[in-house]
Parts: sequence; structure tokens; C-alpha cells
Amino acid sequence: MFNQPKMMDALSEYGTAEYVIFGVPFDGTSSFRAGSRFAPGAMRKASANFESYNAFFDIDLAELPIHDAGDLEPYASVDDTLRDLFCAVEPIVKDGKIPIMLGGEHSLSLPCVKACAKYAGDDFGVVVLDAHFDLRDEYGGLKNNHACVSRHIIDEVTDNYVSIGIRSGPKEEWDLAKENNIRYYTSEDVETKGIKDVLAEVIEYLDCSKIYLSLDMDALDPSFAPALGTPEPFGLNARDVREVIRTLAPMSVGFDIVEIAPEYDGGQTAMLGTKLLREFIAAHACATLD
Ligand code: MN
Ligand code: MN
Repeated sequence: MFNQPKMMDALSEYGTAEYVIFGVPFDGTSSFRAGSRFAPGAMRKASANFESYNAFFDIDLAELPIHDAGDLEPYASVDDTLRDLFCAVEPIVKDGKIPIMLGGEHSLSLPCVKACAKYAGDDFGVVVLDAHFDLRDEYGGLKNNHACVSRHIIDEVTDNYVSIGIRSGPKEEWDLAKENNIRYYTSEDVETKGIKDVLAEVIEYLDCSKIYLSLDMDALDPSFAPALGTPEPFGLNARDVREVIRTLAPMSVGFDIVEIAPEYDGGQTAMLGTKLLREFIAAHACATLD
């Protein structure tokens, strides 16, 4: 840990922090192009670009209790990394803080969801932004492949689950989602209904006060976020994703941003991801702190 420059405005010690940011530079199961292991460093670097003051929420991030715990040292194997990650996240949640994970690949979300669910009890749901269903039981012989994370969340944690931004999957995944009444919104649904109506439906459907929010950056259209492991055209626009985060952050007990592979662009995907991370903290703080 502590091997990189810190996230800008993460000025608190762990003990007094409400928001605990940490990176997990692991992309071992990436199926198309790897590189998300470089995202935590790229996002910390990008953070130096931003003003600490957020005018929309009239809040200054430098005055908020944010801690950067550095990076978790990943193993070569995904299963060992996930086991270690759960052990790292669980105390953060137990201490009443909000874990904010910088992936790394999407498989890393599962232990974070599990840790948050453990302390949230039944009053809990999960919202995933993703171009992909991630509903495979296994992929490439690996249960914990990044293409399977939503399946394991639903099977092992909660079926109180919604995904937004979906537009890619084999027929089996579309059929599975429909047959099991898994609630999902395609990027076309978002465009047709408008993000505010979609979010109102999501909140009504989940019917809980605590959620885990996972942002697979490929939910965004590649024109906004080109540096991805598995880019998929015709995605969500950046303002709609910001609206999701602004609306759902106050209910969130954990958050992650995954699948940015920063080598594939000139820095704008990490920049956008970092901005959305800062938007998450501002929105949550505005709703919950004095
Ligand atoms: Mn995903
Ligand atoms: Mn995806």
C-alpha cells in the first residue's frame, strides 16, 4: 500500500474518514484487452486536474473526511485476490465507512458487495452500470471471471438487483435475464424513457434504503470512455451516468469504478471516471453530512 501519489483531496486519516478509497490493480481475467490494473494510478493522477470545490452541491471535497488507503497488493490468481479483497473491505464497512474501490476488473466487485451486504442485512440492493450482463456462470474455465460478476452477485448475495446500460451478451444471457425476471435497462431504454424516469423505477423496484453501486465504465459509450477492456458502442452518455451517481450516491453503502484500461486513450476515460468518483462523494456527503 501507499506506493503511489494519493488521490487529490483525500486528506483524512483512516480513523476519522467516512470515505475510504483504495485501488486493486488486478486484471488477470480480462478477456479482450487487459490494462485495468493501471487504472488506480491513472485516476489518482487525473484527480490533480480538478478543483476541490463542487459548485453543484456547494461542497468542498478538501473539507470532507476522505482517506486514500493506497492499493491492495493483488495475487496472480483471481480467487486469492478476491479472498484478500474481502478481508480488506470488510473492516472498512464494519467501521461504518463507505468503501470506494478503484478497479481493476469487474470481478473485484463481488467481495465488496458481499462485505457491504453483510452489514446492511435485508434492507439492501445492488445497482450495476454495465454494457454487459455479466451473467455467465463461468467463462474461460474461471468462475470468478470478470464476465460473471453479476451472476455471482445474484446467486450468492441478493436478487434485489438492477443493471443499467445493457446492450451486449450472448442470447443465453438475454434469455436468462428474461426467464428469471432480472431487472435490466438497456442503453436504448434509458434514451427512450429518460434517465430520471428510469431511476425512479429502479428505486421503487429495489424498495430498500441501502445499495451497492458498481460502475463498469463500459456502460458509457466509447465516445465518452474509449479506454476500456471491452468497449461496446451505443452506450450511455456521461451526463446520464452522472445523474445515476448523483441520485443513488446518498443510498449507497459502497461504490466502485472498474474496467478502465487507461493505456487505450489520451487520459479522458480515467479523467471521467475520477470526476464521477468525486461526484459520488459530493452527492453522498451533501445528503448525509451536516
Ligand atoms: Mn462488467
Ligand atoms: Mn462491461
